[in-house]
Amino acid sequence: MEDAAARLEAVNARIAAAAEAAGRDAGDVRLIAISKTFDAAAIAPVLAAGHREFGENRVQEAQGKWPALRERFPDLVLHLVGPLQTNKVRAAVGLFDAIHSLDRDRLAAALAAEIRRQERAPLLFVQVNTGEEPQKAGVPPQEAADFVERCRHEHGLEIGGLMCIPPFHDDPEPHFEVLRRLRVDIGLAALSMGMSADYETAIAHGATHVRVGSAIFGARG
Ligand SMILES: *Cc1c(COP(=O)(O)O)cnc(C)c1O
Repeated sequence: MEDAAARLEAVNARIAAAAEAAGRDAGDVRLIAISKTFDAAAIAPVLAAGHREFGENRVQEAQGKWPALRERFPDLVLHLVGPLQTNKVRAAVGLFDAIHSLDRDRLAAALAAEIRRQERAPLLFVQVNTGEEPQKAGVPPQEAADFVERCRHEHGLEIGGLMCIPPFHDDPEPHFEVLRRLRVDIGLAALSMGMSADYETAIAHGATHVRVGSAIFGARG
């Protein structure tokens, strides 16, 4: 389990090198350690190493482990990177500091209402289905600008950036490039892209938030 701290250090070094190679400041790339399926004991060495930014893909799983950890580590930053059902919006807004899976009007409306109610506004990413995979969440790339516009002006939401999960078997690079261009066209600050296998490529294409799980925690069982 000490291995997780060593792997974290290696990932941080590779992020810094990838940022430098891209002519970017390493401080502009945030590492989200994706701890889904791992329990508090597995997360402990990563916290002990000083890392504070984590991601989960299920609201219920996150509710089971993070509130207790947050009491000990009040400076935690928690990201929801998986799909969000409208009946979990209240819990999600209460727990997470960022939500990466905003992709439909009904969810935008529910988030807006809950953000007003709780007076707590997580950083929001619009998920883009760059591979246009029917089973995958996200708005199609050609609809992303209109959707962001509706989020801002119809739902009154502030949108922080865009997120994508490229198709598993594809070269991720063209997908990262689609997202990079959309970010520029729409005028957004953040890009959530890149996982264990491809975060350096994502950084070369402007990722500001990389989501790295197994390269830190090991293979998921
Ligand atoms: C699991 C997950 C990751 C991390 O995947 P790894 O390949 O383990 O780095 C990143 N993003 C999302 C949305 C995930 O669900």
